[in-house]
Amino acid sequence: MRIVLLGLPGSGKGTQAEALARVWGSVHISTGDIFRQAVSEGSDLGRKVEEILSRGDLVPDVLTSAIVRARLHRADCRDGFVLDGFPRTVPQAIALDAMLQEAGVMLDAVVQLDVAADVVIERLAGRRVCSVCGATYHLRTNPPPAEGRCARCGGSVVARPDDSEEAQQRRIAVYQAATAPLVTFYESQGRLVRVDAVGTVAVVSERVRRAVEREEARS
Ligand code: ADP
Ligand code: ZN
Repeated sequence: MRIVLLGLPGSGKGTQAEALARVWGSVHISTGDIFRQAVSEGSDLGRKVEEILSRGDLVPDVLTSAIVRARLHRADCRDGFVLDGFPRTVPQAIALDAMLQEAGVMLDAVVQLDVAADVVIERLAGRRVCSVCGATYHLRTNPPPAEGRCARCGGSVVARPDDSEEAQQRRIAVYQAATAPLVTFYESQGRLVRVDAVGTVAVVSERVRRAVEREEARS
């Protein structure tokens, strides 16, 4: 499967992308994770994007698209991918279309995870991540084990630096300004599938899986 997941920050893109990639045997590609990892390693890329991320702004399109292009060229993408957090702007979507055309492949679906803004704010406020493996938790709905240790790897579970209240608000505003037009872009081409993303992780995954398979059957 070749899938793009769209949705507000906190809509559950990362969680769903990981679960669905497992189901489909596809790789999960999160531009947010790529940037955060670069920051934690202190690489050239990390130094370039650190401030942008902490403000909640977008990394420039040309840089982001070049990173995704390189990632999609790796062999593990041959059997499919779930793109989480890319594209996030219309120019990025146009760049993605060009990359796929060049590779002679097509997207199976573009899925929009639908949640109201107030739900997203509650989810982001309680979000915690493992500083080692990136596993996500939520203080209310999926709390990390006692002492803030990750259930999967034992790493310490922390708040994401760009989950500060200012950065959250900024990310939501950026989504409305830069990413909402992208939703319209895919919708006007008849390529958008909307899925109600309020529910447990398993219920939402099942909805996405069904919606994508319906879309596949149609095309
Ligand atoms: P969320 O969906 O919760 O906002 P992500 O992990 O997807 O979080 O992204 C975190 C940050 O990484 C973004 O706020 C932005 O700074 C940067 N980023 C991720 N994907 C892109 C992209 N496609 N274009 C530009 N910046 C991006
Ligand atoms: Zn972990």
